[in-house]
Amino acid sequence: MSTDKRDPVLVFEDFSATLKRTNRKDVEIQVKPDNSVIIFAPISAKLDLIRRLVDKRVHWIQAKRLARTHTLLKQKKEYVAGESFLLFGESYSLHISSHGGRSNLTHDGKKFLLKSSGVSSGEKWFTSFYKRAAKESLIPRAESLAKTLGYKTTSVRVLELGARWGSCSKVHRINLNWRLALLPKHIADYIIVHELTHIESNGHDMKFWGKVEHAMPNYRDAQRWLTKNGHKVVF
Ligand SMILES: [Zn+2]
Repeated sequence: MSTDKRDPVLVFEDFSATLKRTNRKDVEIQVKPDNSVIIFAPISAKLDLIRRLVDKRVHWIQAKRLARTHTLLKQKKEYVAGESFLLFGESYSLHISSHGGRSNLTHDGKKFLLKSSGVSSGEKWFTSFYKRAAKESLIPRAESLAKTLGYKTTSVRVLELGARWGSCSKVHRINLNWRLALLPKHIADYIIVHELTHIESNGHDMKFWGKVEHAMPNYRDAQRWLTKNGHKVVF
């Protein structure tokens, strides 16, 4: 439902909300993906009752808006103890240590360990960690999938591809986004299979999807997962 210029706007502590009166029994609050707040209320509900109901849920609204802001800001992470970071689909908390080995950032299988001296460039250490993890895990994986499926690649590389998960060049070079290191492995597999399939099919026609399905019968689950969660793993 879209908002209308004539709908009244209620102003709260740190946000304003559009009030939409409809034929309904309860007051419902929605925080939209663009962070706007809409209050759906019964036609007869008194304005201060609506205000009181919204006030009671202010923390919920603020938390929701904050979460949306993080998504909108491409999930700007804070490099503080307790912040969580993904690695192959699992979430691990960050620990800060004053000493440790040579690397600024390590992962011991249970948690991420960042040297306190590396905190100010946390993003840089995580990015290089993910790039290395992606290279170590996904290049051999892509090579083995190519072999199994009978595709001949020129090379498999892990690169900065921005918002694209992967690509396949005319000369059959497979490029994978290093952010695949944040995805569950079966989702990364789907992206690899998808790009490998482009070695023999350029577009996304029925023939292409038939080949993808043959290689990965449940590929639609991976597509759905990406539609729902893909934007959350942008690092
Ligand atoms: Zn494609």
